[in-house]
Amino acid sequence: MDFTLSAPQRKIQDRARQLAQDRIKPQAADLDRQGRHPAEILTELGELGFMGLSLPKDYGGGGQDFVSYVLAMIEIAQGCMSCALIMHLNHTLFGGTVTSFGTEAQKQRYLIPVAGGQKMACFALTEAEAGSDASRMQCTARRQGQDYILNGTKKFVTSGQVASYGLVAASTAPELGAKGISAFIVDLENASGVTVGPLEDKLGLKATGTVDLTFNQVHVPAENLLGQENQGLKLMLRALDDGRIGTAAQAVGLGRAILTESLAYARQRQQFGQPIAHFQAIQWKLADIATEVEAAELLTLKAAWRKDQGLPYDTAAAMAKLFATDAAMRAAVEGVQILGGYGYLRDYPLERHLRDAKGTQIYEGTNEIMRLIIARNLLK
Ligand SMILES: Cc1cc2nc3c(=O)[nH]c(=O)nc-3n(C[C@H](O)[C@H](O)[C@H](O)COP(=O)(O)OP(=O)(O)OC[C@H]3O[C@@H](n4cnc5c(N)ncnc54)[C@H](O)[C@@H]3O)c2cc1C
Repeated sequence: MDFTLSAPQRKIQDRARQLAQDRIKPQAADLDRQGRHPAEILTELGELGFMGLSLPKDYGGGGQDFVSYVLAMIEIAQGCMSCALIMHLNHTLFGGTVTSFGTEAQKQRYLIPVAGGQKMACFALTEAEAGSDASRMQCTARRQGQDYILNGTKKFVTSGQVASYGLVAASTAPELGAKGISAFIVDLENASGVTVGPLEDKLGLKATGTVDLTFNQVHVPAENLLGQENQGLKLMLRALDDGRIGTAAQAVGLGRAILTESLAYARQRQQFGQPIAHFQAIQWKLADIATEVEAAELLTLKAAWRKDQGLPYDTAAAMAKLFATDAAMRAAVEGVQILGGYGYLRDYPLERHLRDAKGTQIYEGTNEIMRLIIARNLLK
């Protein structure tokens, strides 16, 4: 077994690290405080080729493997979790899904600007009564001539307030339940009847916008149906398999940031006449954080590698997401403890990391649902 990264993978990792540490990390605390969409950072990520890193070259992407994407995501997340999540939604949930299921015309029109980072995209699956059980969605899309007429409200849409395009799931045959759901690319810039709700006031990931998107008699051209009619739920759930690898990568990056900051603090903070790093109680916390982040990274890279090899990866993705996000949460709790009272202050990044970590255990399928997927596949 060879754990060595290839030369191109190392180069991407180095470039992402440099960008994250020099340009993104210094802005992360302000972005969090202001709850501001990081438009300039995303433009820069686009210009440097990260917004479409593993999307096909023919459609404006970088043509790199998914392992490279994970390596970049880990670095970006160390700089700013909100930036990483926005990049991930654009790249993987929208871009990756249109790559896999889109027609040539859809790719030309919608994938190219998203892969280049010129346009923002969002992924709208969740509804008020359809969270973990997405099949209960009430949003409908009824065929009328050459259009589908979209009605309903999607909740928790990350980037919904800035997105030009949305990947939206709606029921095209309500009587068929989960088997009557379709996925659409909605041109949010040009569609009439779309209302963007106010920004949700979240615990963390403050620089990501989370909004309701309400569709009132929105005409979506039939050519914007993604994949087959009534096959949309499968397609959206496939997107989430990829998404979970990206979420795991975000959690690994966050865990690494927590480790770096906890180590630095433990080395310099003196109590009882010595650095707190000399106390075994602190050393054990550091050792546990380092071990769990390392294990999380291995699971995440393995899931990405399986995807690159064309092997089944749904269980691997769920395991990586479950373990990495739980590990990030544990690391954040212990990181705050290592900093003592200072960990509880906004002057240090640990409290932000704690708030951001909590989100990763919830979005793209809660960790209870990850256990359900893993157990279901075990018991097949
Ligand atoms: C920061 C953030 C960003 C998000 N971005 C997006 C986005 O861009 N697009 C989008 O569509 N959605 C998005 N979401 C929504 C997210 O995917 C849902 O919140 C998530 O799927 C859970 O749904 P819910 O909140 O309705 O919780 P529920 O499904 O109501 O779950 C409540 C609790 O019950 C548990 N539970 C539910 N069913 C089971 C079961 N069968 N077995 C065991 N436990 C169960 C859950 O794990 C959870 O603990 C985002 C959420 C957050 C927090």
